[in-house]
Amino acid sequence: MIGHLTAPPPERGLFCNRTLNMRAIKAIGYDMDYTLIHYRVEAWEQRAYEHMRNRLVALGWPVAHLTFDPLLAMRGLIIDTEKGNLLKANRFGFVKKALHGTRPLGFEAQREEYARTIIDLSERRWVFLNTLFSLSEACLYAQVVDLLDAGKLPGPMGYTDVYEHVRRSLDATHMEGALKAEIIADPARYVLAESDTALSLLDQKHAGKKLLLITNSEWAYTLPMMHAAFDPYLPGGMTWRELFDVVIVSARKPEFFTTRSSLFEVVTTPGQEGLLRPHSGPLKAGVPYFGGSATEVERFLGMSGDEILYVGDHMFGDVHVTKNVLRWRTALILRELEDEIRAINAFRPTEVRLAERMEHKERLEAEACQVRLELQRRRQGYGPRSPTPPDDALHARAAELRQQLEQLDAEIAPMARAASELANPIWGLLTRAGNDKSHLARQVERYADIYTSRVSNFLFATPFVYLRSPRGSLPHDPTTPGGTPVFPPSAAETAVP
Ligand code: IMP
Ligand code: MG
Repeated sequence: MIGHLTAPPPERGLFCNRTLNMRAIKAIGYDMDYTLIHYRVEAWEQRAYEHMRNRLVALGWPVAHLTFDPLLAMRGLIIDTEKGNLLKANRFGFVKKALHGTRPLGFEAQREEYARTIIDLSERRWVFLNTLFSLSEACLYAQVVDLLDAGKLPGPMGYTDVYEHVRRSLDATHMEGALKAEIIADPARYVLAESDTALSLLDQKHAGKKLLLITNSEWAYTLPMMHAAFDPYLPGGMTWRELFDVVIVSARKPEFFTTRSSLFEVVTTPGQEGLLRPHSGPLKAGVPYFGGSATEVERFLGMSGDEILYVGDHMFGDVHVTKNVLRWRTALILRELEDEIRAINAFRPTEVRLAERMEHKERLEAEACQVRLELQRRRQGYGPRSPTPPDDALHARAAELRQQLEQLDAEIAPMARAASELANPIWGLLTRAGNDKSHLARQVERYADIYTSRVSNFLFATPFVYLRSPRGSLPHDPTTPGGTPVFPPSAAETAVP
Protein backbone atom coordinates (compact mmCIF):
# COMPACT_ATOMS: atom_id res chain seq x y z
CA MET A 1 0.00 0.00 0.00
CA ILE A 2 1.38 3.40 -0.94
CA GLY A 3 2.07 5.38 2.24
CA HIS A 4 -0.44 8.22 2.02
CA LEU A 5 -3.22 6.10 0.55
CA THR A 6 -4.17 4.02 3.55
CA ALA A 7 -7.65 2.51 3.69
CA PRO A 8 -10.32 4.89 5.02
CA PRO A 9 -12.19 4.21 8.25
CA PRO A 10 -15.60 2.62 7.57
CA GLU A 11 -17.47 5.90 7.94
CA ARG A 12 -15.40 7.55 5.20
CA GLY A 13 -16.33 5.14 2.41
CA LEU A 14 -18.06 5.89 -0.89
CA PHE A 15 -21.31 3.94 -0.86
CA CYS A 16 -22.82 2.87 -4.11
CA ASN A 17 -26.49 2.44 -5.08
CA ARG A 18 -25.89 2.22 -8.83
CA THR A 19 -22.63 1.16 -10.41
CA LEU A 20 -20.46 4.13 -11.32
CA ASN A 21 -17.18 3.96 -13.20
CA MET A 22 -15.35 7.18 -12.40
CA ARG A 23 -13.22 6.75 -15.53
CA ALA A 24 -16.33 7.24 -17.65
CA ILE A 25 -17.11 10.53 -15.93
CA LYS A 26 -15.77 13.49 -17.91
CA ALA A 27 -17.05 16.36 -15.80
CA ILE A 28 -17.77 16.72 -12.10
CA GLY A 29 -20.09 19.49 -10.93
CA TYR A 30 -19.94 20.62 -7.32
CA ASP A 31 -22.37 22.40 -5.08
CA MET A 32 -20.63 24.75 -2.61
CA ASP A 33 -22.44 25.04 0.72
CA TYR A 34 -22.28 21.87 2.80
CA THR A 35 -20.56 20.13 -0.12
CA LEU A 36 -17.22 21.77 -0.93
CA ILE A 37 -17.50 23.82 2.24
CA HIS A 38 -18.69 22.20 5.43
CA TYR A 39 -20.02 24.47 8.17
CA ARG A 40 -19.89 23.90 11.89
CA VAL A 41 -23.58 23.02 11.99
CA GLU A 42 -24.29 24.16 15.53
CA ALA A 43 -22.57 27.53 15.09
CA TRP A 44 -24.15 28.27 11.67
CA GLU A 45 -27.64 27.06 12.54
CA GLN A 46 -27.59 28.74 15.94
CA ARG A 47 -26.78 32.07 14.29
CA ALA A 48 -29.35 31.53 11.51
CA TYR A 49 -31.89 30.63 14.20
CA GLU A 50 -31.16 33.83 16.11
CA HIS A 51 -31.62 35.95 12.98
CA MET A 52 -34.93 34.20 12.24
CA ARG A 53 -36.13 34.50 15.82
CA ASN A 54 -35.31 38.23 15.83
CA ARG A 55 -37.41 38.70 12.73
CA LEU A 56 -40.36 37.12 14.54
CA VAL A 57 -39.70 39.33 17.59
CA ALA A 58 -39.94 42.31 15.23
CA LEU A 59 -43.44 41.06 14.28
CA GLY A 60 -44.40 41.28 17.94
CA TRP A 61 -44.17 37.53 18.67
CA PRO A 62 -43.13 36.58 22.23
CA VAL A 63 -40.18 34.42 21.12
CA ALA A 64 -37.13 36.34 22.41
CA HIS A 65 -36.51 33.72 25.12
CA LEU A 66 -36.34 30.76 22.72
CA THR A 67 -32.98 29.06 22.07
CA PHE A 68 -31.76 26.73 19.35
CA ASP A 69 -31.85 23.03 20.25
CA PRO A 70 -29.60 21.13 17.82
CA LEU A 71 -31.05 17.72 18.79
CA LEU A 72 -34.70 18.58 18.21
CA ALA A 73 -34.57 18.02 14.46
CA MET A 74 -32.43 16.24 11.94
CA ARG A 75 -32.19 16.01 8.19
CA GLY A 76 -34.75 13.71 6.57
CA LEU A 77 -37.61 14.52 8.98
CA ILE A 78 -40.86 15.90 7.63
CA ILE A 79 -42.82 18.90 8.88
CA ASP A 80 -46.58 18.46 8.82
CA THR A 81 -47.48 22.12 8.32
CA GLU A 82 -51.22 21.45 8.79
CA LYS A 83 -50.91 19.82 12.19
CA GLY A 84 -47.82 21.49 13.66
CA ASN A 85 -45.93 18.19 13.84
CA LEU A 86 -42.45 16.96 13.10
CA LEU A 87 -42.39 13.43 11.71
CA LYS A 88 -40.10 10.57 10.88
CA ALA A 89 -41.43 8.27 8.20
CA ASN A 90 -40.31 4.94 6.84
CA ARG A 91 -39.54 4.19 3.20
CA PHE A 92 -43.23 3.71 2.37
CA GLY A 93 -44.20 7.10 3.80
CA PHE A 94 -45.82 5.70 6.97
CA VAL A 95 -45.26 7.83 10.06
CA LYS A 96 -43.13 6.03 12.63
CA LYS A 97 -42.47 8.81 15.14
CA ALA A 98 -44.03 12.21 15.73
CA LEU A 99 -43.63 15.35 17.81
CA HIS A 100 -46.41 17.86 18.18
CA GLY A 101 -44.54 21.11 18.69
CA THR A 102 -41.65 19.95 20.87
CA ARG A 103 -43.59 17.17 22.65
CA PRO A 104 -43.75 13.53 21.58
CA LEU A 105 -47.14 12.43 20.31
CA GLY A 106 -48.39 9.44 22.31
CA PHE A 107 -48.93 6.10 20.56
CA GLU A 108 -52.71 6.46 20.39
CA ALA A 109 -52.64 10.10 19.24
CA GLN A 110 -50.13 9.21 16.55
CA ARG A 111 -52.26 6.31 15.36
CA GLU A 112 -55.37 8.42 15.25
CA GLU A 113 -53.59 11.17 13.31
CA TYR A 114 -51.58 9.12 10.83
CA ALA A 115 -52.78 5.50 10.61
CA ARG A 116 -54.49 6.25 7.29
CA THR A 117 -51.85 8.66 5.98
CA ILE A 118 -49.14 8.01 3.45
CA ILE A 119 -46.80 10.95 3.09
CA ASP A 120 -46.45 12.19 -0.47
CA LEU A 121 -43.80 14.88 -0.56
CA SER A 122 -45.27 16.45 -3.70
CA GLU A 123 -48.17 17.74 -1.54
CA ARG A 124 -47.70 21.22 -0.06
CA ARG A 125 -48.66 20.00 3.39
CA TRP A 126 -45.32 18.21 3.90
CA VAL A 127 -41.93 19.87 4.10
CA PHE A 128 -38.96 17.56 3.86
CA LEU A 129 -35.82 18.66 5.71
CA ASN A 130 -33.49 18.47 2.72
CA THR A 131 -30.28 19.88 4.14
CA LEU A 132 -28.52 20.82 7.35
CA PHE A 133 -29.74 24.38 6.66
CA SER A 134 -33.22 23.06 7.58
CA LEU A 135 -32.44 22.39 11.26
CA SER A 136 -32.99 25.96 12.49
CA GLU A 137 -36.29 26.16 10.60
CA ALA A 138 -37.65 22.90 12.06
CA CYS A 139 -36.52 23.75 15.60
CA LEU A 140 -38.07 27.22 15.54
CA TYR A 141 -41.30 25.92 14.00
CA ALA A 142 -41.71 23.25 16.69
CA GLN A 143 -41.11 25.76 19.47
CA VAL A 144 -43.49 28.32 17.99
CA VAL A 145 -46.21 25.64 17.64
CA ASP A 146 -45.98 25.22 21.45
CA LEU A 147 -46.60 28.96 21.82
CA LEU A 148 -49.52 28.85 19.39
CA ASP A 149 -51.10 26.00 21.39
CA ALA A 150 -50.61 28.01 24.58
CA GLY A 151 -52.54 30.90 22.98
CA LYS A 152 -49.52 33.19 23.13
CA LEU A 153 -49.26 34.24 19.49
CA PRO A 154 -50.96 37.42 18.25
CA GLY A 155 -53.99 37.31 15.94
CA PRO A 156 -55.96 34.34 14.61
CA MET A 157 -53.41 31.92 13.21
CA GLY A 158 -53.16 28.25 12.38
CA TYR A 159 -50.23 25.84 12.11
CA THR A 160 -49.85 26.54 8.38
CA ASP A 161 -49.72 30.32 8.90
CA VAL A 162 -47.08 29.88 11.58
CA TYR A 163 -45.06 27.75 9.18
CA GLU A 164 -45.29 30.40 6.45
CA HIS A 165 -43.93 33.03 8.87
CA VAL A 166 -41.02 30.81 9.95
CA ARG A 167 -40.31 29.95 6.31
CA ARG A 168 -40.27 33.63 5.29
CA SER A 169 -37.93 34.49 8.15
CA LEU A 170 -35.57 31.70 7.01
CA ASP A 171 -35.58 32.90 3.40
CA ALA A 172 -34.94 36.47 4.46
CA THR A 173 -32.13 35.41 6.80
CA HIS A 174 -30.39 33.52 3.99
CA MET A 175 -30.99 36.10 1.31
CA GLU A 176 -30.38 39.39 3.08
CA GLY A 177 -26.76 40.17 3.80
CA ALA A 178 -26.43 40.33 7.61
CA LEU A 179 -25.86 36.64 8.42
CA LYS A 180 -23.59 36.04 5.42
CA ALA A 181 -21.54 39.12 6.37
CA GLU A 182 -20.93 37.59 9.81
CA ILE A 183 -19.79 34.32 8.21
CA ILE A 184 -17.47 36.09 5.78
CA ALA A 185 -15.99 38.16 8.63
CA ASP A 186 -15.11 35.07 10.67
CA PRO A 187 -14.93 31.96 8.47
CA ALA A 188 -12.89 30.00 11.04
CA ARG A 189 -15.79 30.21 13.49
CA TYR A 190 -18.34 28.82 11.02
CA VAL A 191 -16.37 26.65 8.58
CA LEU A 192 -14.65 23.33 9.28
CA ALA A 193 -11.57 23.74 7.10
CA GLU A 194 -10.23 20.67 5.33
CA SER A 195 -7.12 20.64 3.17
CA ASP A 196 -7.91 17.25 1.58
CA THR A 197 -10.88 18.66 -0.35
CA ALA A 198 -8.54 20.77 -2.51
CA LEU A 199 -6.27 17.77 -3.10
CA SER A 200 -9.22 15.56 -4.14
CA LEU A 201 -10.25 18.13 -6.75
CA LEU A 202 -6.67 18.54 -7.96
CA ASP A 203 -6.48 14.76 -8.45
CA GLN A 204 -9.66 14.88 -10.52
CA LYS A 205 -8.52 17.85 -12.59
CA HIS A 206 -5.16 16.26 -13.38
CA ALA A 207 -6.99 13.04 -14.29
CA GLY A 208 -8.58 15.07 -17.12
CA LYS A 209 -12.00 15.78 -15.64
CA LYS A 210 -13.65 19.16 -16.17
CA LEU A 211 -14.61 20.67 -12.83
CA LEU A 212 -17.71 22.80 -12.39
CA LEU A 213 -18.92 24.87 -9.47
CA ILE A 214 -22.69 25.35 -9.50
CA THR A 215 -23.93 27.07 -6.36
CA ASN A 216 -27.03 28.93 -5.28
CA SER A 217 -24.87 31.29 -3.26
CA GLU A 218 -24.28 34.74 -4.65
CA TRP A 219 -20.89 35.90 -5.95
CA ALA A 220 -20.23 38.23 -2.98
CA TYR A 221 -20.41 35.20 -0.66
CA THR A 222 -18.89 32.57 -2.95
CA LEU A 223 -15.71 34.52 -3.66
CA PRO A 224 -14.48 34.99 -0.06
CA MET A 225 -15.69 31.57 1.08
CA MET A 226 -14.03 29.65 -1.76
CA HIS A 227 -10.89 31.72 -1.26
CA ALA A 228 -10.78 30.83 2.46
CA ALA A 229 -11.59 27.15 1.88
CA PHE A 230 -9.31 26.41 -1.07
CA ASP A 231 -6.53 28.90 -1.72
CA PRO A 232 -4.42 28.08 1.37
CA TYR A 233 -4.33 24.42 0.28
CA LEU A 234 -3.52 24.79 -3.43
CA PRO A 235 0.07 24.55 -4.65
CA GLY A 236 2.30 27.31 -6.05
CA GLY A 237 -0.01 30.29 -5.67
CA MET A 238 -2.83 28.57 -7.56
CA THR A 239 -6.32 29.87 -6.66
CA TRP A 240 -9.71 28.16 -6.63
CA ARG A 241 -10.62 30.04 -9.81
CA GLU A 242 -8.05 28.02 -11.77
CA LEU A 243 -9.41 24.77 -10.39
CA PHE A 244 -12.80 25.13 -12.08
CA ASP A 245 -13.60 25.15 -15.79
CA VAL A 246 -17.07 26.55 -15.18
CA VAL A 247 -18.25 28.66 -12.23
CA ILE A 248 -21.96 29.47 -11.85
CA VAL A 249 -23.28 31.40 -8.85
CA SER A 250 -26.89 32.28 -7.93
CA ALA A 251 -27.80 29.21 -9.97
CA ARG A 252 -31.36 28.96 -8.62
CA LYS A 253 -31.29 25.19 -8.31
CA PRO A 254 -33.52 23.23 -8.73
CA GLU A 255 -34.90 25.47 -11.54
CA PHE A 256 -31.35 25.55 -12.93
CA PHE A 257 -31.76 21.88 -13.82
CA THR A 258 -35.28 22.12 -15.22
CA THR A 259 -35.79 25.46 -16.96
CA ARG A 260 -33.77 27.90 -19.02
CA SER A 261 -33.13 31.30 -17.54
CA SER A 262 -30.92 34.21 -18.56
CA LEU A 263 -27.21 33.94 -18.12
CA PHE A 264 -25.10 36.86 -16.94
CA GLU A 265 -21.37 37.31 -16.73
CA VAL A 266 -20.11 38.40 -13.30
CA VAL A 267 -17.69 41.30 -13.68
CA THR A 268 -14.49 40.69 -11.72
CA THR A 269 -12.48 43.79 -12.61
CA PRO A 270 -11.58 45.72 -9.45
CA GLY A 271 -13.98 48.53 -8.74
CA GLN A 272 -16.78 46.79 -10.63
CA GLU A 273 -16.54 43.41 -8.86
CA GLY A 274 -19.88 41.63 -8.79
CA LEU A 275 -21.69 43.70 -11.44
CA LEU A 276 -23.63 41.66 -13.98
CA ARG A 277 -23.36 41.80 -17.76
CA PRO A 278 -25.83 39.90 -20.02
CA HIS A 279 -24.12 37.03 -21.79
CA SER A 280 -24.82 35.27 -25.05
CA GLY A 281 -22.88 32.70 -27.03
CA PRO A 282 -20.65 29.96 -25.66
CA LEU A 283 -19.33 30.14 -22.11
CA LYS A 284 -15.83 31.53 -21.68
CA ALA A 285 -13.34 29.66 -19.51
CA GLY A 286 -12.34 31.46 -16.32
CA VAL A 287 -15.38 33.76 -16.27
CA PRO A 288 -17.86 33.33 -13.43
CA TYR A 289 -21.50 33.32 -14.47
CA PHE A 290 -24.79 34.13 -12.75
CA GLY A 291 -27.93 32.07 -13.47
CA GLY A 292 -28.31 30.15 -16.71
CA SER A 293 -29.20 26.48 -16.95
CA ALA A 294 -27.88 22.95 -16.96
CA THR A 295 -28.75 22.57 -20.66
CA GLU A 296 -26.36 25.43 -21.44
CA VAL A 297 -23.63 23.72 -19.41
CA GLU A 298 -24.20 20.42 -21.23
CA ARG A 299 -23.98 22.23 -24.58
CA PHE A 300 -20.79 24.06 -23.58
CA LEU A 301 -19.15 20.83 -22.43
CA GLY A 302 -20.48 18.82 -25.39
CA MET A 303 -21.32 16.02 -22.98
CA SER A 304 -24.38 13.92 -22.25
CA GLY A 305 -25.91 13.40 -18.85
CA ASP A 306 -24.21 10.13 -18.00
CA GLU A 307 -20.77 11.69 -18.48
CA ILE A 308 -21.44 14.32 -15.82
CA LEU A 309 -21.43 13.63 -12.09
CA TYR A 310 -23.07 16.22 -9.85
CA VAL A 311 -22.11 16.26 -6.18
CA GLY A 312 -24.35 18.06 -3.68
CA ASP A 313 -25.91 17.93 -0.24
CA HIS A 314 -29.49 19.02 -1.03
CA MET A 315 -31.67 15.95 -1.41
CA PHE A 316 -34.15 17.61 -3.73
CA GLY A 317 -32.31 20.50 -5.36
CA ASP A 318 -28.99 18.78 -6.02
CA VAL A 319 -29.79 15.11 -6.40
CA HIS A 320 -33.47 14.31 -6.98
CA VAL A 321 -34.11 16.75 -9.82
CA THR A 322 -30.70 16.24 -11.40
CA LYS A 323 -31.27 12.51 -11.63
CA ASN A 324 -34.95 12.66 -12.58
CA VAL A 325 -34.83 15.37 -15.21
CA LEU A 326 -31.32 15.35 -16.66
CA ARG A 327 -30.19 11.81 -15.85
CA TRP A 328 -26.85 13.15 -14.67
CA ARG A 329 -24.96 10.80 -12.39
CA THR A 330 -25.40 11.96 -8.79
CA ALA A 331 -23.49 11.91 -5.51
CA LEU A 332 -25.07 12.96 -2.22
CA ILE A 333 -22.94 14.42 0.54
CA LEU A 334 -24.31 13.30 3.90
CA ARG A 335 -21.94 14.41 6.62
CA GLU A 336 -24.11 12.86 9.37
CA LEU A 337 -23.22 9.45 7.95
CA GLU A 338 -19.99 9.49 9.93
CA ASP A 339 -21.74 9.62 13.31
CA GLU A 340 -24.37 7.23 12.01
CA ILE A 341 -21.86 4.56 11.00
CA ARG A 342 -19.80 5.00 14.17
CA ALA A 343 -22.97 4.57 16.27
CA ILE A 344 -24.02 1.47 14.32
CA ASN A 345 -20.59 -0.11 14.73
CA ALA A 346 -20.42 0.65 18.45
CA PHE A 347 -23.86 -0.96 18.89
CA ARG A 348 -22.87 -4.10 16.98
CA PRO A 349 -22.36 -6.42 20.01
CA THR A 350 -25.77 -5.45 21.44
CA GLU A 351 -27.29 -5.83 17.97
CA VAL A 352 -26.01 -9.42 17.82
CA ARG A 353 -27.49 -10.20 21.25
CA LEU A 354 -30.77 -8.55 20.27
CA ALA A 355 -30.97 -10.59 17.04
CA GLU A 356 -30.27 -13.78 18.97
CA ARG A 357 -33.06 -13.03 21.51
CA MET A 358 -35.46 -12.13 18.70
CA GLU A 359 -34.74 -15.41 16.96
CA HIS A 360 -35.45 -17.26 20.20
CA LYS A 361 -38.68 -15.26 20.58
CA GLU A 362 -39.79 -16.18 17.07
CA ARG A 363 -39.21 -19.88 17.80
CA LEU A 364 -41.29 -19.72 21.01
CA GLU A 365 -44.03 -17.74 19.26
CA ALA A 366 -44.21 -20.33 16.49
CA GLU A 367 -44.61 -23.13 19.06
CA ALA A 368 -47.24 -21.11 20.97
CA CYS A 369 -49.23 -20.70 17.71
CA GLN A 370 -49.12 -24.46 17.07
CA VAL A 371 -50.27 -25.28 20.62
CA ARG A 372 -53.11 -22.78 20.36
CA LEU A 373 -54.27 -24.17 17.01
CA GLU A 374 -54.17 -27.75 18.30
CA LEU A 375 -56.34 -26.77 21.29
CA GLN A 376 -58.75 -24.88 19.03
CA ARG A 377 -59.19 -27.91 16.71
CA ARG A 378 -59.73 -30.22 19.67
CA ARG A 379 -62.30 -27.84 21.15
CA GLN A 380 -64.19 -27.40 17.87
CA GLY A 381 -63.67 -30.99 16.72
CA TYR A 382 -62.38 -30.45 13.18
CA GLY A 383 -59.27 -31.03 11.08
CA PRO A 384 -56.32 -33.29 11.82
CA ARG A 385 -55.57 -33.52 15.54
CA SER A 386 -52.87 -35.35 17.45
CA PRO A 387 -53.94 -37.78 20.23
CA THR A 388 -51.07 -36.71 22.54
CA PRO A 389 -50.19 -34.93 24.72
CA PRO A 390 -53.43 -34.53 26.70
CA ASP A 391 -55.23 -31.16 26.91
CA ASP A 392 -53.88 -30.43 30.41
CA ALA A 393 -50.30 -30.80 29.27
CA LEU A 394 -50.96 -28.53 26.26
CA HIS A 395 -52.48 -25.84 28.50
CA ALA A 396 -49.49 -26.09 30.82
CA ARG A 397 -47.10 -25.74 27.87
CA ALA A 398 -49.03 -22.68 26.62
CA ALA A 399 -48.67 -21.03 30.04
CA GLU A 400 -44.98 -21.91 30.16
CA LEU A 401 -44.42 -20.38 26.71
CA ARG A 402 -46.27 -17.21 27.73
CA GLN A 403 -44.01 -16.85 30.76
CA GLN A 404 -40.83 -17.43 28.74
CA LEU A 405 -41.97 -14.87 26.16
CA GLU A 406 -42.58 -12.29 28.89
CA GLN A 407 -39.09 -12.87 30.25
CA LEU A 408 -37.61 -12.50 26.77
CA ASP A 409 -39.55 -9.28 26.17
CA ALA A 410 -38.14 -7.84 29.39
CA GLU A 411 -34.65 -8.56 28.04
CA ILE A 412 -35.40 -7.29 24.55
CA ALA A 413 -37.14 -4.02 25.48
CA PRO A 414 -34.10 -2.06 26.78
CA MET A 415 -31.96 -3.23 23.86
CA ALA A 416 -34.66 -2.24 21.35
CA ARG A 417 -35.02 1.14 23.06
CA ALA A 418 -31.26 1.71 22.90
CA ALA A 419 -31.34 0.82 19.19
CA SER A 420 -34.07 3.39 18.59
CA GLU A 421 -32.05 6.12 20.33
CA LEU A 422 -28.79 5.65 18.42
CA ALA A 423 -27.30 8.88 17.05
CA ASN A 424 -30.24 11.04 18.24
CA PRO A 425 -32.18 10.41 21.49
CA ILE A 426 -35.50 11.55 19.98
CA TRP A 427 -35.27 10.35 16.40
CA GLY A 428 -32.67 7.59 16.31
CA LEU A 429 -30.65 6.83 13.20
CA LEU A 430 -31.00 8.98 10.10
CA THR A 431 -31.26 6.06 7.71
CA ARG A 432 -33.53 3.78 9.76
CA ALA A 433 -37.14 3.97 10.89
CA GLY A 434 -37.79 1.12 13.30
CA ASN A 435 -36.50 -2.00 11.61
CA ASP A 436 -37.01 -0.53 8.17
CA LYS A 437 -35.28 2.07 6.00
CA SER A 438 -36.21 5.67 6.70
CA HIS A 439 -37.85 7.96 4.15
CA LEU A 440 -34.50 9.66 3.77
CA ALA A 441 -32.76 6.34 3.08
CA ARG A 442 -35.34 5.58 0.38
CA GLN A 443 -34.68 8.89 -1.32
CA VAL A 444 -30.95 8.36 -1.12
CA GLU A 445 -31.24 5.02 -2.88
CA ARG A 446 -33.62 6.36 -5.51
CA TYR A 447 -31.81 9.52 -6.46
CA ALA A 448 -28.16 9.32 -5.39
CA ASP A 449 -26.04 6.95 -7.46
CA ILE A 450 -23.45 7.16 -4.73
CA TYR A 451 -23.36 8.76 -1.29
CA THR A 452 -20.61 9.64 1.09
CA SER A 453 -19.94 11.82 4.13
CA ARG A 454 -17.62 14.37 2.49
CA VAL A 455 -15.97 15.30 -0.78
CA SER A 456 -12.48 14.43 0.46
CA ASN A 457 -13.52 10.75 0.60
CA PHE A 458 -12.84 10.77 -3.16
CA LEU A 459 -9.20 11.03 -2.17
CA PHE A 460 -9.11 7.45 -0.88
CA ALA A 461 -11.08 6.18 -3.84
CA THR A 462 -9.04 8.02 -6.54
CA PRO A 463 -10.53 9.50 -9.75
CA PHE A 464 -10.24 6.06 -11.38
CA VAL A 465 -12.37 3.99 -9.03
CA TYR A 466 -15.01 1.56 -10.32
CA LEU A 467 -17.85 1.62 -7.81
CA ARG A 468 -20.11 -1.41 -7.94
CA SER A 469 -23.52 -1.57 -6.32
CA PRO A 470 -24.15 -4.45 -3.90
CA ARG A 471 -26.68 -7.15 -4.65
CA GLY A 472 -29.98 -5.79 -3.23
CA SER A 473 -31.53 -7.94 -0.49
CA LEU A 474 -35.15 -9.12 -0.43
CA PRO A 475 -37.21 -10.69 2.36
CA HIS A 476 -37.25 -14.09 0.58
CA ASP A 477 -33.44 -14.24 0.27
CA PRO A 478 -31.96 -17.25 2.08
CA THR A 479 -30.68 -16.40 5.55
CA THR A 480 -27.90 -17.87 7.64
CA PRO A 481 -28.97 -19.73 10.81
CA GLY A 482 -28.49 -16.52 12.84
CA GLY A 483 -31.15 -14.80 10.73
CA THR A 484 -28.65 -12.60 8.89
CA PRO A 485 -29.34 -12.33 5.16
CA VAL A 486 -26.74 -14.16 3.09
CA PHE A 487 -26.41 -10.99 0.99
CA PRO A 488 -26.58 -8.19 3.57
CA PRO A 489 -26.80 -4.71 2.06
CA SER A 490 -24.22 -3.70 4.63
CA ALA A 491 -22.36 -0.41 4.53
CA ALA A 492 -19.06 -2.22 5.01
CA GLU A 493 -19.61 -4.28 1.88
CA THR A 494 -19.89 -1.25 -0.35
CA ALA A 495 -17.13 0.77 1.28
CA VAL A 496 -14.16 1.68 -0.85
CA PRO A 497 -11.60 0.32 -1.20
P1 IMP B 1 -25.39 25.73 -2.44
O1 IMP B 1 -25.64 24.68 -1.45
O2 IMP B 1 -23.93 25.98 -2.70
O3 IMP B 1 -26.20 25.62 -3.71
O4 IMP B 1 -25.86 27.10 -1.77
C1 IMP B 1 -26.94 27.17 -0.92
C2 IMP B 1 -27.30 28.65 -0.80
O5 IMP B 1 -28.68 28.73 -0.61
C3 IMP B 1 -26.62 29.32 0.38
O6 IMP B 1 -26.24 30.61 0.01
C4 IMP B 1 -27.72 29.38 1.41
O7 IMP B 1 -27.60 30.51 2.25
C5 IMP B 1 -28.96 29.46 0.56
N1 IMP B 1 -30.12 28.82 1.17
C6 IMP B 1 -30.16 27.62 1.79
N2 IMP B 1 -31.40 27.38 2.26
C7 IMP B 1 -32.16 28.43 1.90
C8 IMP B 1 -33.54 28.74 2.09
O8 IMP B 1 -34.32 28.00 2.67
N3 IMP B 1 -33.97 29.94 1.58
C9 IMP B 1 -33.13 30.78 0.91
N4 IMP B 1 -31.84 30.51 0.71
C10 IMP B 1 -31.35 29.35 1.21
MG1 MG C 1 -25.41 22.85 -0.72
